[in-house]
Amino acid sequence: MIVRSIVTDAPQGGVQIESRDMDYSSFPVILKPILTGICGTDRGIVNGALPFAYNPHGENRLILGHESLSMVISAEPNQYNIKAGDIVVPMVRRPGKCLNCLIGRSDNCSDGQKHEAGVTGLHGFMRDEFGDFPEYLVRVPGNRKDDIAVLTEPVKNVEKVFEVLDIISRRSIFTDSSGAYDGKRAVIIGTGSEGFLFALKSMDYGFSTGITNRHPLDSTKAKLVEDTGMGFYDYARAGIREENGIDLLIDTSGDPGTVLRFLGRMNNNGIVVLFGTNGKAQPAQVDGEILGSIVEKNLSIVGSVDGARIHYEGALQDIYQWKAHYGKAIETMITARLRPDDTGIFLKKPADEIKTVISWE
Ligand code: NAP
Repeated sequence: MIVRSIVTDAPQGGVQIESRDMDYSSFPVILKPILTGICGTDRGIVNGALPFAYNPHGENRLILGHESLSMVISAEPNQYNIKAGDIVVPMVRRPGKCLNCLIGRSDNCSDGQKHEAGVTGLHGFMRDEFGDFPEYLVRVPGNRKDDIAVLTEPVKNVEKVFEVLDIISRRSIFTDSSGAYDGKRAVIIGTGSEGFLFALKSMDYGFSTGITNRHPLDSTKAKLVEDTGMGFYDYARAGIREENGIDLLIDTSGDPGTVLRFLGRMNNNGIVVLFGTNGKAQPAQVDGEILGSIVEKNLSIVGSVDGARIHYEGALQDIYQWKAHYGKAIETMITARLRPDDTGIFLKKPADEIKTVISWE
C-alpha cells in the first residue's frame, strides 16, 4: 500500500515527506498512529548530529518517529490479546541475539545488534500506517486516548534511569534514616521534555528538585515549574547555586562543559546520570583534579539509554498519577499539535516547546 511518511537519510540528516509503497503482509498487527511525538533525538538525526543513527539495511531513507500513541486496525489472534481497536504504545527497541536482548532487556543490549524504530536501522512510526508484532505493543490501560499518553515513550527512559538509581544507590546509605530521599538534592540539566519528566519523577521520590538551563524559561515552561513546585534557575545568570551540594545530577543537555561545571558540586556518594547526547557539542577537558574528586567523593557516573516493557508500563502509571496529582498542568506539556507536512518543526525548536506532537487522525 502507498503510505505517507516522514523520512530522513541517517546519519547525514535532512527531512521530507515521502509516499512509499510498503508491504505489511509479514506483520500480524496493522496499526495507525494517533499521535507521534518529536524529541531531541529526532532533531539530532535530522541535523546530522547523531552519528549512531542509520538507515535500514540496503535502504537510503529512514522513516522517523519513535514516540507513538497508536490504534490497532487489525490483528491476527495472538497470545498477548492485542486486538482491533486497542490503544497501544509501540516499543522502540527490537532485540538482537545477546543474552540481555533474549531476556527482554534490549535496552541493555550487550553487542549493539538491537535496532531502534526511527533511529537505528528500523523504520519508525511517522507514517499513515505501520505493521508490527504484538509482543512489542504496550496496551494503554482503559484504552485511553488522552494526548498525554504519547509521553509514555519518553517517560519510560525516566523509569529506567530511576531503576539505575535504585541499583547504584545501594552501594552506600543514600537515603535519610527513614529510608526516604527527603533532604537530598537532585539537579536536572536541560529544560526540554525529558528534563521536565525527570524532574517530576525526582519529586515523586522526594528529592528537592531543580531544573536548570543557561537562559531563562519562556512563560509556558515557567508556569509548569510554578504549577508543579519544581525549582528552576538560569545558571548562566545566577551561577551554580548548589551550596548544599548535589546528590543526583541528571544531564539532558549532552554538553560536556556544563556537566563538568555541575560535577564540581556533587556530594559524597553522589550519582551522575548522563542521558543527553549531542555529537556536535564543544569538547571539554577532564583534568587530574576532576578525576581525583570523582574518586575521593565515591561518585557514580553512569550512562542510561532506552527502557524495557516494564518501564513503559511504569511510565503509563507515572503519567496518570501525575495527571491525578497535578491536573491540567501535565496537559500543558503538549505545547503544539501539528500536521505531518509541517516538517519545518524538525529544523527549529520553538522556544516554548515542551512536547510537540504530530496528529495523524
Ligand atoms: P531537548 O528538548 O533538545 O532538550 C535538551 C535540553 O538541554 C534543552 O532544554 C536545551 O536547552 C538544554 N541544553 C542544551 N545545552 C545546554 C547547556 N549547555 N546547558 C543547559 N542546558 C542545555 O531534548 P529532549 O527530547 O528533552 O531530550 C534530551 C536529550 O536526551 C537529547 O540530547 C536527546 O537526544 C537525548 N535522549 C536520550 C535518550 C536516552 O535513552 N539516553 C532518549 C531520548 C532522548 P534549549 O532550551 O536552549 O534548547
